[in-house]
Amino acid sequence: MQVVKIIQWDMGHRVMNHRSICKGLHGHRYRAEICIQGDMIDVEGVSEEGMVVDFSDIKEIALSFIHSKLDHAFMVWDKDEEMINFFNSSKGHKPIIVPFTPTAENVAKYIFETLSPKIIDNYGNGLHLMSVKVWETPTSYAVYSE
Ligand SMILES: [Zn+2]
Repeated sequence: MQVVKIIQWDMGHRVMNHRSICKGLHGHRYRAEICIQGDMIDVEGVSEEGMVVDFSDIKEIALSFIHSKLDHAFMVWDKDEEMINFFNSSKGHKPIIVPFTPTAENVAKYIFETLSPKIIDNYGNGLHLMSVKVWETPTSYAVYSE
């Protein structure tokens, strides 16, 4: 059984080596679909009986990372010297420096790898992060799964 929680946030980026307009500074309303897989919990009388996981637990795990680190941030590739220099000399911004070019594909993989160890299988129901789908625009998304 799979359950999905959707988290949205605003973030700026640029794709430095892109052949067209994506190399300029711009932002997106991102949307991540966090897909969790596991068996349904059959422990009688517990709060999570009949669930794979409590949606509020996924929300808390995903939001604590996505909203604190990524929301209203500007994602910068650590090879992007121009932007690194800018953020070193200008205050009041929220840069997040990453070791990859910030495409939707890499953002999906990054979120997957960050959240995966935080999904704890407390009930022995095989609970694990199945995939992360990142929407960069209303018509474009990337999915990462292991
Ligand atoms: Zn973009």
